[in-house]
Amino acid sequence: MDQLFAAHAGKKLHHANLIYGGAGEDPLPVGLKLAATLLCETKTACGTCRNCKRVEKLEHPDLNFTFPFVSGGNTGTADDFLKDFRKALLKNPFLDPDSWQRQITSKNQQLQIPVKEIQNLQQKLSLTAAEGGNRVLLIWMPEQIKTTASNKLLKLIEEPLPNTFIILVSHRKNKLLPTIVSRCAPWSCKPLDESSFNQHFENSPGQTKRLLSMVFAPNLGAAITAYDDPEITQIDRFAEWMRTCYKGVPVEIASVVNTLASLPKESLKTLIYRSLHFLERGFYHNVQNTPNGATDLGVINVQKLSGAVVPKGASSITRSLGDCLNDLERNVHVKTTLTHTSFALYSAFRGN
Ligand SMILES: [Zn+2]
Repeated sequence: MDQLFAAHAGKKLHHANLIYGGAGEDPLPVGLKLAATLLCETKTACGTCRNCKRVEKLEHPDLNFTFPFVSGGNTGTADDFLKDFRKALLKNPFLDPDSWQRQITSKNQQLQIPVKEIQNLQQKLSLTAAEGGNRVLLIWMPEQIKTTASNKLLKLIEEPLPNTFIILVSHRKNKLLPTIVSRCAPWSCKPLDESSFNQHFENSPGQTKRLLSMVFAPNLGAAITAYDDPEITQIDRFAEWMRTCYKGVPVEIASVVNTLASLPKESLKTLIYRSLHFLERGFYHNVQNTPNGATDLGVINVQKLSGAVVPKGASSITRSLGDCLNDLERNVHVKTTLTHTSFALYSAFRGN
């Protein structure tokens, strides 16, 4: 990322920049830092000038945001959710798509950037910059732009306006139109490692840090949401499911399967994906024999669980959770596949 800021310092910054990397990782904070650099009075993101202060509060009049949202607002544009977006991003600078979705809807709705929002942007950009300096347009998750709107965005990128910079922050670069990608300067962010988690949760107990990193790494944004509000994340549900599979009592498995099957499908997929991630990392810690600080956290006994995963069991866990995800994609009966997976986990925990 140093090169990105060097390009800016050398006045070689392209007017359209594509910053990409994992969800809940560096891309969004880097995009905001670039915005601050472009709007700062001394062009350094000094953090102390009036412009930097306003960027920090996400309130600079020449910093425009576009992001995916759900339909049903008053204007049908991102403006309907701007307040929520500011609130979410101020609370969690590594905001990830899941946390954002839960902030604005409890339903299983697809988040999108509709044509109307791109028209809204064109409209805003046709006015002159409020402060007469640079103007920045930050588009989070351009991969969620409706196909019909993508061409309008392409036009915005192809015909640069004076002193106007477009920052695309993407978590799925391969979903973008190749014509859009080819017209932007690409900047890739490295995945976050455990030290970023340790740094962020510096003041939390070691076992909490380790659990958050095991379940969520490298998605720091999801970990921040889970830490701030365990209610809306699925950590308890995940723990309960793993505990039940570990015990393997059929009537308890049936009950937990019923609860899981009632979740929106996307939430269920996220939960399974995280379980897979957690168990694989648990196995890794087990094999490496690294000191496992996380023991009994009240919600889940990490050591016991990860210690239960032996090599043969680890491959069956990966296989059964992977099959479960595939089944859900193919709309196989949810309770059937969850029941099957739960018993497969039970047997995998015993090394079979
Ligand atoms: Zn400044």
